[in-house]
Amino acid sequence: MSVLNKRKILVAGNWKMNNNNKETEAFLENLNVEFNNEKVEVLLCVPYTNLGVALNLTKNSNVKIGAQNCHFKENGAYTGEISPLMLKEIGAEYVILGHSERREYFNETDETVNLKLQAVLKNELKAVVCVGETLKQREDKITKEIISMQLKKGLKNILEEHVKNIIIAYEPIWAIGTGKTASKEQAQEVCEHIRNVLGEIFSKEKAEEILILYGGSVKAVNCEEIFKQKDIDGGLIGGASLNVSEFKEMISIANGI
Ligand code: PEP
Repeated sequence: MSVLNKRKILVAGNWKMNNNNKETEAFLENLNVEFNNEKVEVLLCVPYTNLGVALNLTKNSNVKIGAQNCHFKENGAYTGEISPLMLKEIGAEYVILGHSERREYFNETDETVNLKLQAVLKNELKAVVCVGETLKQREDKITKEIISMQLKKGLKNILEEHVKNIIIAYEPIWAIGTGKTASKEQAQEVCEHIRNVLGEIFSKEKAEEILILYGGSVKAVNCEEIFKQKDIDGGLIGGASLNVSEFKEMISIANGI
């Protein structure tokens, strides 16, 4: 369990393309939950248009704010894109990279994830790098190979000194937004594999420092058993992070582990 390994538990919300500024305001005003910051970290990854409001309202709190994507260049002729430098400038601390929805709908690949990761780390932001297999890949029993490849390509040429700013989220695609959660054993097995691969890429010691999240239909009712797994250090939570009571409950559960 995270606590034994001295890793924090990260409760991270991914709002996707949901919530306007008014809803963001209402959510954050209601997010009055106490937690031990030595043990638990709380993050909300909001749409770009809500970053200003969210950052302003969390100025004096322990809640961190992040984006859900960025470009790999700092500026230039990339109409419609947002750079890591821009995120840094407004005070965002985190950014999700390589979410399966971005891979599926926006042609994101391990190569672009790698370019984005390098740019994000250069700008001293923290990256939540998502990996995960499809249902077909799981049925074909190639989950571990797929995850290894995503990690090796996605984390190519990343220096060990940047490891402290990398978080991995294991999100089996078949469990995202489907209500199907991986069992705690399935999630732990893959997260242990991720830690072993990180050990090969960096070093065993460094791999022990990296937070590995599970994501895929995590909610208040199932988060405790997931967060208690040896190699799982929290959750990347989509649907259930839109409900402030549920999100608060998950933070309290993490705080009590
Ligand atoms: C996600 O968006 O990263 C996610 C895991 O979604 P959900 O919790 O809704 O399955």
